[in-house]
Amino acid sequence: MTENRYNTIVVGGGIAGLTSAAYLSRAGQKVLLIEKNKEFGGLVNSFSRNGFHFEGGVRALEDAGIIFPMLKDLGIQLEVVKSPVSLGIGKDVIGIETVKDLDKYRELLIKLFPESKSEIDNFLRIIRKIMKHMEVLYGIENPVFKDLIKDRTFIFKKLLPWLPRFIFTVGKINRMNMPVEDYLKTVVKNPSLRDMISQHFFKNTPAFFALSYFSLYIDYFYPKGGVGKLSDALKNKITEFGGGLKPETKIIEVQADNKLVIDQNNLSYNYDNLIWANDLKSLYKITSTEGLSLKIKIKFEETKSSMLQSRGTDSVFSLFLEVDEPLESFRKIAHGHFFYTPSKTGLGETHREELNKLLHDFGNIKKEEILAWLDKFTKLNTYEISIPGLKDPELVPPGQTGIIISFLAEYDLFKEIRKAGWLDEFTVEIENRMINVLSESVYPMLKDKIIGRFSFTPLHIENRVGSSEGAIVGWSFQKKMPVVNKIQISDRSVFTAIPSVYQAGQWAYSPAGVPMSILTGKLAADKVLKNKI
Ligand SMILES: Cc1cc2nc3c(=O)[nH]c(=O)nc-3n(C[C@H](O)[C@H](O)[C@H](O)COP(=O)(O)OP(=O)(O)OC[C@H]3O[C@@H](n4cnc5c(N)ncnc54)[C@H](O)[C@@H]3O)c2cc1C
Repeated sequence: MTENRYNTIVVGGGIAGLTSAAYLSRAGQKVLLIEKNKEFGGLVNSFSRNGFHFEGGVRALEDAGIIFPMLKDLGIQLEVVKSPVSLGIGKDVIGIETVKDLDKYRELLIKLFPESKSEIDNFLRIIRKIMKHMEVLYGIENPVFKDLIKDRTFIFKKLLPWLPRFIFTVGKINRMNMPVEDYLKTVVKNPSLRDMISQHFFKNTPAFFALSYFSLYIDYFYPKGGVGKLSDALKNKITEFGGGLKPETKIIEVQADNKLVIDQNNLSYNYDNLIWANDLKSLYKITSTEGLSLKIKIKFEETKSSMLQSRGTDSVFSLFLEVDEPLESFRKIAHGHFFYTPSKTGLGETHREELNKLLHDFGNIKKEEILAWLDKFTKLNTYEISIPGLKDPELVPPGQTGIIISFLAEYDLFKEIRKAGWLDEFTVEIENRMINVLSESVYPMLKDKIIGRFSFTPLHIENRVGSSEGAIVGWSFQKKMPVVNKIQISDRSVFTAIPSVYQAGQWAYSPAGVPMSILTGKLAADKVLKNKI
């Protein structure tokens, strides 16, 4: 095999690509993992600034029956702590640590919306049912990470008894696939209450997936040293297994017939198999099908067209604060992972219809109108707040606190404002409002203690990981999904329309997130290995 020829090339060193490369190198393949950034990890990454530790992407991890089995299977020891979640509305904050804490959530909602008591009870009944389904779904270690030939005990004691329950549960899930907004309208009449329950979900999130978040809250854990430790551990395993890592290398062309990829420096790399573990629109945009059969070309064009017509999910705006105030002041208020809504009014149409109107007529809209909209948006929104030091106190300078505050954001708004030439100003306007809103509500000590701040917009996410529309979990939820979106056929999610090319990660399956990215990374590696035999 010549130096630049590989059994498998994996493009994209996020968590999906890292997983594929780890498994393939363990199997003895000649593997190269190519990543455009200096650091591996993609949206599972951590970084430090002035002694404060932050997460650039996902804030904590959920096992989902996937992450721990994968770590065990690969022989990775990762020191982790629980990452309990708090939920807060206005002055009320509760911790969600066990299923029992749902009672606190019920009380909180009834306190704020006493007239909707029976609807709240009904809603909580549904949540409890979904949590039971989740217990089934994630109830055993995912069989994809088990050695089903050798591990007879697992097959007979766990897998076989679980299968009928799994099939039954999948049937139930598939019946709750409608957008959560529509589903909630059938259960809860009060629009503000609906907003409190759902406004931090992506637009049109399938109801089951959205409402299963309550199970995920209890499942969250945090690697000591930050979520990036998971990516570091996988990267080290690839090296240990003899796999190759190539950072700061961006693939700009795929020649399907010649089975080669070309990077930004015009270097080419030959593959027997390629795993594309990043944005799929880019794969179809940069692949040339010259030399392939007409049948394949037609399939390729159809898939390309459905991908290019689809959009990524909502993106996120994240504000990073370095605060000269001890962790204890924040610990008294909420856990280190906190979903907080300052006002019980709810966003109503602020985030969708009103924003759409602004975007529709953007050229004629004055800056003041956008800022007036922003005032409302920041007051009524829900924030995901993460304080890494509350999960691992070694992640901050003594006596100080690092905070990440984020909200779901519309990529197009930032794109238009950049085009109009006032993105930096807009970013500062958002930061100021977020700080004011939170200082006037849940963190009164915040405002005067900030010693450093910066933020990432959806455009940073697009630029950093090459994610279409700055999406943070892959495809937006739409009627016609360009990839597999049914759990029972998830193993098909890794096929592309291009011979010897597989896909993995958040764009390969919907709904996605870290566990699904890992799962598809493993599935793609399995297909490659099966093909060889
Ligand atoms: C703020 C935030 C909160 C989140 N919260 C959660 C959560 O609570 N739970 C959850 O499960 N998930 C969450 N996610 C989503 C989760 O982080 C992602 O779905 C997952 O990490 C995606 O992994 P991936 O490997 O598929 O893609 P990515 O992480 O996007 O990795 C793709 C990699 O490919 C590289 N790349 C791109 N193009 C090229 C190219 N041409 N050549 C070479 N390399 C290239 C990129 O630089 C990147 O490193 C969150 C994400 C964010 C940002």
